[in-house]
Amino acid sequence: MTDTKTPPRVLVVEDEPDIAAVIAYQLTREGYRVETALNGAAALDALHRDLPDLLVLDRMLPEISGDDVLKALRADPATEAVPVLIVTAKKDQADRIQGLELGADDYLTKPFSPRELVLRADAILRRTQGERRGAIRGGPILRAGPLKVDVGAHYVTLDDEEVQLTPTEFRLLQTLMERRGRTQSRTQLLTEAWDVDSVAARRLHTRTVDMHVRRLRGKLGPAGEWIETVRGFGYRFQRPTG
Ligand code: CA
Repeated sequence: MTDTKTPPRVLVVEDEPDIAAVIAYQLTREGYRVETALNGAAALDALHRDLPDLLVLDRMLPEISGDDVLKALRADPATEAVPVLIVTAKKDQADRIQGLELGADDYLTKPFSPRELVLRADAILRRTQGERRGAIRGGPILRAGPLKVDVGAHYVTLDDEEVQLTPTEFRLLQTLMERRGRTQSRTQLLTEAWDVDSVAARRLHTRTVDMHVRRLRGKLGPAGEWIETVRGFGYRFQRPTG
């Protein structure tokens, strides 16, 4: 269990009420706050009403499948960062890989023990909460639409194609994405991405930042436009909605 003050919220999407109840019971016992949704439409409603810290998602759902819920969630900038644990009855390796390619963070194959589920949920939350604190280790994945940044592996893909970045470009992108929507001054970027203190950052030429941002944008193609120039102040990573 993580030691955040407010218990993490988990949305459990499972169409079999008995299984949903067992999962909810176990997670609640471990200190999570749990909401359940019995179908994909209810899941998407709940996601937009109140963003959970984790989504536990059954793949086999009537009407809107778990895969479609996952695709919709990852395609929407409002929900794309929610970690997802897929629960699947399919044992086939290809199906597992497909689930992970759709953007699941981990998966569990039915039947699973409730204890196993809690351990996976704890592990995912430790990773994502580490990401929020800016921790480098543990391999969080930062996502923005087709752009994926694997922080632990120093690996960036755009539409599943690798993008080769220098270490500085990588840290620059990571910093901007971790603080998405918030403008970062050139000095802030120098202290974070170049790992220098603020005194040294003032001595470094801020044009250095502009030059690296220009190169980074060039390498990211259309996604490069999401690094916006905020005139007179710095840069901000923002993926436009719609
Ligand atoms: Ca099911």
